[in-house]
Amino acid sequence: MNPSQWFTEQVPAAGSAFSLKIKQKVHEEQSEFQHLEIYETETFGYLMVIDGCTMVSTRDNFFYHEMMSHPALYTHPNPKRVWIIGGGDCGTLREVLKHDSVEHAVQIDIDERVTRLAEIYFPELCASNNDPRADLKFIDGIKWVKDAAPNSVDIIIVDSTDPIGPALGLFSEDFYRDCYNCLSENGMIVQQSESALFNMTLIGEMRDAMSASGFNHLQTLFFPQCLYPSGWWSATLASKTDLSTFREQDSTDKPFETIYYNIDIHKASLAQPEFFKKAFTK
Ligand code: SAM
Repeated sequence: MNPSQWFTEQVPAAGSAFSLKIKQKVHEEQSEFQHLEIYETETFGYLMVIDGCTMVSTRDNFFYHEMMSHPALYTHPNPKRVWIIGGGDCGTLREVLKHDSVEHAVQIDIDERVTRLAEIYFPELCASNNDPRADLKFIDGIKWVKDAAPNSVDIIIVDSTDPIGPALGLFSEDFYRDCYNCLSENGMIVQQSESALFNMTLIGEMRDAMSASGFNHLQTLFFPQCLYPSGWWSATLASKTDLSTFREQDSTDKPFETIYYNIDIHKASLAQPEFFKKAFTK
């Protein structure tokens, strides 16, 4: 195997790696915030890598973007105002804007270069960027939330990189408290929460910090994502109100296309594996 023909992301702590066969590296730069690379792969379309970690591929991004958005949007009773912290590839924004109830969706990514590259290499993910309800800001999401007034938003989706570099503070109790303070009465956060096989400590700390900042209702949901370490990913919802039901009829009648999400997938994603229940049942 010629290593120059493969992109590999190693996870040394897990003794694991994932590789994609590449045709060529088509872009590389050091932005003000992070190291950005784009590869053209043999079978996954384009691949974006930030600081050596896989972020998004043409072929499999739908799992992540659909599961970061639709379960939360069908759980909130009437989501009108949505913020996406991070999410610079714009795929989550596109999914959020499929919901007619949404009147204003703000994407707040610290690094404008991520979005400019997505516009070139992932134009399908940027298809809704000119929707009049879309608002793209390029500033630090931590500061955005800290400065926000109470009752300014219904759902905050934290579509961030791993908890390193500029994303570290997005996994902190201070950040969750600031989210709590600017969310509306039925408000909720949904945050990508890594792999339950590799990152149980991180998930536990995240859930503890969410609870400590006032969110009484937590729900971690699971979905496949072969691009990310272990191939099995999660998102964690933290809400001010009950998370045990969602708008099943609206989910069944969804007036838009998805590739992965539907009501059965939604229900299945809520099933808690035995080891997870044992870890988090108090
Ligand atoms: N789906 C990806 C994953 O789970 O690995 C995340 C993709 S998205 C491209 C992550 C984005 O988070 C990046 O564009 C990065 O610039 C952004 N980001 C990191 N820290 C941030 C912060 N403090 N405020 C806003 N955006 C941030």
